Amino acid sequence: MADIIQLLPDHVANQIAAGEVVQRPASVVKELLENAIDAGSNAIKLIIKDGGKALIQVVDNGSGMSATDARLSFERHATSKIKSAEDLFSLNTKGFRGEALASIAAIAHVELLTKTESDEIGVQLKIEGSKIIAQEVTVTPKGTSLCVKNLFFNIPARRNFLKSNQVEFRHITDEFHRVALAHPNIQFHFYNNGSELFHLPKSNYRQRIVNVFGNKTNEKLVPVEEETQVVKISGFISKPEFSKKSRGEQFFFVNDRFIKSPYLHHAVVSAFEGLIRSDNHPGYFLYLDVDPSSIDINIHPTKTEIKFDDEHTLYALLRSAIKHALGQFNVVPTIDFDQDQNLDTPYAYKGKQAELPKVVVDAGFNPFADELAKPGNRSYEKQSTKGWENLYVGLESKVGKESDFSSVSFESETITGSIFDSQRANLDHVATTFQLRRKYIVTTIKSGMIVIDQSRAHQRVLYENFLKNITIKEAVSQQLLFPLSLSFSKADVLIIKEIQDSLVTLGFAFDSLEDELVAISGVPLLVPESEVGMVLDQLISDYQLDVQGDSFSQSDIVSKTLCKTLAVKTGEQLDSDSQLALVNNLFACKEFKISPFNKPIYITITGDDIDKKFF
Ligand code: ADP
Ligand code: MG
Repeated sequence: MADIIQLLPDHVANQIAAGEVVQRPASVVKELLENAIDAGSNAIKLIIKDGGKALIQVVDNGSGMSATDARLSFERHATSKIKSAEDLFSLNTKGFRGEALASIAAIAHVELLTKTESDEIGVQLKIEGSKIIAQEVTVTPKGTSLCVKNLFFNIPARRNFLKSNQVEFRHITDEFHRVALAHPNIQFHFYNNGSELFHLPKSNYRQRIVNVFGNKTNEKLVPVEEETQVVKISGFISKPEFSKKSRGEQFFFVNDRFIKSPYLHHAVVSAFEGLIRSDNHPGYFLYLDVDPSSIDINIHPTKTEIKFDDEHTLYALLRSAIKHALGQFNVVPTIDFDQDQNLDTPYAYKGKQAELPKVVVDAGFNPFADELAKPGNRSYEKQSTKGWENLYVGLESKVGKESDFSSVSFESETITGSIFDSQRANLDHVATTFQLRRKYIVTTIKSGMIVIDQSRAHQRVLYENFLKNITIKEAVSQQLLFPLSLSFSKADVLIIKEIQDSLVTLGFAFDSLEDELVAISGVPLLVPESEVGMVLDQLISDYQLDVQGDSFSQSDIVSKTLCKTLAVKTGEQLDSDSQLALVNNLFACKEFKISPFNKPIYITITGDDIDKKFF
């Protein structure tokens, strides 16, 4: 047989390598920004068009390159940053693989302008698909400008795989945040589609964080400071009362490099234990300085994970530094740990007035009969919008459908069958319900009993209600007496703009959406005014997380978030009217078996099951 092995041509090898380095426009942004920093720049400009698909340009005032270096920089394994393997252990640059430019040039149209301090005149290079197609001398200031156009022009499969411009833009913003937060001593400009999004002057860490995430951030920050032989820890955590539903602002930097570390994250979270609700997330911006020889940053191709020699010590030091910071700033409320947890009010309800459900249920009221559902005949009053009444969502609306309900027919019912039968006009036909461990609603059915997860059931009810409101656009909005003014980061405001239409159909009314400020004049009936900020936070973070596209639409994401945030939770006590309303509403849903998050809502225990237990 003839020899069949051959070496891949360079441009093919480069394309393959590019797949590892460049997953999306944000990866290019990261590499270019890091190169600019490595070149010693103190002012960097980032320019983006169409989510980076059309253009990514980084202009710096760093060292620049000679004409020869400029050509060489696009070769694979061409780097000025390490000379031998040993250098890997004393790394103080971002890059070291010498792969980025070669990879980018293999899959895009690249234009480089660069000049060193000592050269009189600069050089301009044009490269397409790894080939240098033009080289000219040119007048240009000291530093480098790298322009990347038409990313993945020669790999259509990759290009098609990219998400919408907004989603790609969001990844870029995330990357920009990480770099900008790590280098407050560098001035950054960020232009998106021709308009300036960020102008970050040279400053300190605290000011940089505030410039990136908005003025409101300042009051939230508690400094963390700890110096030991192993590590120097500095930075900020956010006060426990500002912990968020969303994971949003959590940053670790090791030797000025953004990293992800579930292990260290755990150290931080554990220091906050008991101070924030378990489903809330603390914000943190933590900068660790360690001896470069004690870490290995080489284990991940895109370098956001690193390996520490002594993780356990780091964990302990970090945890204690944060506990110390929390204690010093007197942000720790006194908590009596001996107190029975179950007696404790959940944080969200602390300080709020306890409200009794002001709902009167008329026993003759039939939620399933159309004529009774007309406004005039409503037999209960809405008096406040908090909590309990959420359970009655949909009761006023039409529930006339003959859905397949055979599996759940209630015990008290005679031979007739469906719950929607006219026989079942009275609520008191429904067997009594009771609440188990403040978590389940138990009720009997003909064949035995069902145990309903109260939170999931309510999620389902709210979810279908919200989806319907969005589709038929008839949501009821409650006008706020005084418009709410909420601050967000610029990036968050952009996201709110994106989902604005869905929010409006749900009953939100926006007076203005500015730079970092959102003025709200109306909210959906079911959203308490005090929770609007929290709900929007959650929406932003869910929307960001959904970049993978699990949800089929924006309305789906929005409805999911709202139902998750507003549904009754485990641990909440429900009176019997509320329990009944919940059960009835659940079984009026299109899908009553599975929660919007694909979890079973109830289980059935038949008489036979029980009989067996008695054997
Ligand atoms: P690495 O950063 O891993 O060395 P790159 O492919 O990103 O590899 O860059 C190759 C080389 O090109 C760098 O080592 C550096 O010498 C040079 N270079 C890249 N970008 C710049 C820049 N903005 N300013 C000066 N030199 C640069
Ligand atoms: Mg590099």
